[in-house]
Amino acid sequence: MARRARIFVVSGPSGVGKGTLVALLRERLSCLGLTVSATTREPRPGEKDGVSYYFMDDAEFDRRVAAGEFLEWAWVHGHRYGTLRSEVERVLASGSSVVLEIDVQGGLSVRASMPDAVLVFVEPPSVEELERRLRGRGTEDESQIETRLQNARSEMDRAPEYDVRIVNDDLDRACSELEEVIHTYEMDGGPS
Ligand code: 5GP
Repeated sequence: MARRARIFVVSGPSGVGKGTLVALLRERLSCLGLTVSATTREPRPGEKDGVSYYFMDDAEFDRRVAAGEFLEWAWVHGHRYGTLRSEVERVLASGSSVVLEIDVQGGLSVRASMPDAVLVFVEPPSVEELERRLRGRGTEDESQIETRLQNARSEMDRAPEYDVRIVNDDLDRACSELEEVIHTYEMDGGPS
């Protein structure tokens, strides 16, 4: 059956494990194209420019916004993050689907400009579990954790606007569910 390359947006609150989930998905589905987002936040230890993100200052980000280079961009946790059109176009043109791991505002604006995009929301088993994971990861200080928890609550309120919801209670199971979603939507005649 014919397969159609599509945009899949994966969103969910900070700490839900969507980075790990998408990394596992990419291992299992090597046919998925890779895109790199742009951000104005500072690199964390070990992060590489052009691999983790395109790290840029405010002036450069402004210039690219003005030039219409972003498919979407949003303020997340006090910094700007955005998806470059060129990244998505390159992957789709090669015939591969693209998975964008972006925040909810970004996801909903991708849908506004690309109504064919499939929006997947990754949920934690509970808010308490999310807080535990966020603290356990040890990459944010207390005030950053508070900001991320507040953002998490408002992101989770918007989950009903997404096409598919996946609970990340077990990484392996959640990944299989995500794979299934991708296969279903890539097939002609699948949900659109
Ligand atoms: P982090 O700073 O932990 O790498 O990412 C923080 C948040 O930014 C994550 O929730 C992630 O989904 C979001 N994010 C990463 N890249 C993009 C992007 O290109 N656009 C939008 N709107 N959000 C993004």
